[in-house]
Amino acid sequence: MNEKTIFTDVAIFGGGIAGLWVLNRLRNLGYQAFLFETSSLGNGQTIKSQGIIHGGLKYALTGFLTGSANAIESMPKRWKDCLQGTGEIDLRLVKILSNDQLLWSTGSLHSEIASFFASKALNSRVQKLNFDQYPPLLQNAYFRGHAYRLEEVVLDTPSLIQTLAQPYKNCIFKINSTEAYKFQVQPHNPQHIVSFKCHSGEKIFNLEAKRYLFTAGEGNEQLASFLPNAPAMQRRPLQMVLVKFNLPYTFFAHCIDNGANPRITITTHSTQDGKTVWYLGGKIAEDGALRTPTEQIEVAKKELKVLFPWLDLKETKWASFFIDRAEPKQPGGKRPDTIFIQAIGNTIIGWPTKLALSPVLADELITLLTQQSIQPSPTPKETIYAEQLESPKIALPPWEELFI
Ligand SMILES: Cc1cc2nc3c(=O)[nH]c(=O)nc-3n(C[C@H](O)[C@H](O)[C@H](O)COP(=O)(O)OP(=O)(O)OC[C@H]3O[C@@H](n4cnc5c(N)ncnc54)[C@H](O)[C@@H]3O)c2cc1C
Repeated sequence: MNEKTIFTDVAIFGGGIAGLWVLNRLRNLGYQAFLFETSSLGNGQTIKSQGIIHGGLKYALTGFLTGSANAIESMPKRWKDCLQGTGEIDLRLVKILSNDQLLWSTGSLHSEIASFFASKALNSRVQKLNFDQYPPLLQNAYFRGHAYRLEEVVLDTPSLIQTLAQPYKNCIFKINSTEAYKFQVQPHNPQHIVSFKCHSGEKIFNLEAKRYLFTAGEGNEQLASFLPNAPAMQRRPLQMVLVKFNLPYTFFAHCIDNGANPRITITTHSTQDGKTVWYLGGKIAEDGALRTPTEQIEVAKKELKVLFPWLDLKETKWASFFIDRAEPKQPGGKRPDTIFIQAIGNTIIGWPTKLALSPVLADELITLLTQQSIQPSPTPKETIYAEQLESPKIALPPWEELFI
């Protein structure tokens, strides 16, 4: 078979939020960049994320702005610009599920948190609500607690992936997973990739890139395994829960008690059959990683009965699934504060660590390329034509996949 060689500036491996964001930024700057995906776009963590563009307050529940909280503070504004069409990427077609996220407590907040929320440090990013401003679900005589409004937009992840994939869909290709790791390296310099042999459906070709970027989430571990000093990865496991209602209960909120993490984080998603699904994350999902699915669903049912004794759960369907957050290894397996990017030879490995932080990952990548004098090339000698290779589909979100 005739194997063509394609030359490009950057070859991106992995079409989650990180790879798609970077592809858009690089192409907008004039770089020749192609993205290769072994499954469907967003298939790893991105499609299963809750879509919350955090401003870091859920990382400040101890009453202090932690490293994580500081790193992510400017993200809501940056994404808002994109959603309004004035930012670095045009995200006007992304469906916004909610313009804000509620923070609610089941009882009185301890005094440090209450005064922290009222402090100048938060620059009015938190607004205390009166009872008449509560969402309908909390306007109940049995509700005891306080509610705050956070400026954190919640996005529909399938439409986010679709919007990011659309402008450069001719540069995004599906490759066969078993054939995805054929990197040819220099014999005396195993850190330097010479070329990549690519299989897409029945087609085969060679790719030569100035830089190879791995944004494959969990897949980075295997992709980078040929590198002698590849960065170590950690997995932080979760068991997420979904509740499908016949009634249109819309709720976007973090419930806080006196712990450092939200007790439960709820987002609401509409299904194609016209129902409403609550997607439950937060501490319940972290603790649930050690439970069986039956135990986890029982715990979640009890938790919703405690939190909303007035809520009718009779006509509900339940599901749960396990997923790992894939991140750079941290001491003690802790949550990383911010993005990770590392260059080794002509490979660059990146983990955004949060959906919300993908713009920062792209910034740092572009800085790295500039420092390494990788400039946008004029039109390459050979290019990939979309019709030659397969295109990946967009992954199904769990609220469509799990209730068949
Ligand atoms: C349950 C859950 C909820 C979350 N909620 C939020 C939230 O509300 N807000 C927030 O900011 N963050 C959230 N996060 C974190 C966020 O989702 C992740 O940090 C982010 O999606 C990671 O994106 P990524 O592109 O690095 O990886 P992924 O989304 O995992 O994408 C990796 C892609 O690479 C592909 N791939 C794998 N191997 C290869 C290979 N060898 N070659 C080519 N392609 C390959 C995969 O198929 C996949 O499409 C959540 C995470 C989880 C798990």
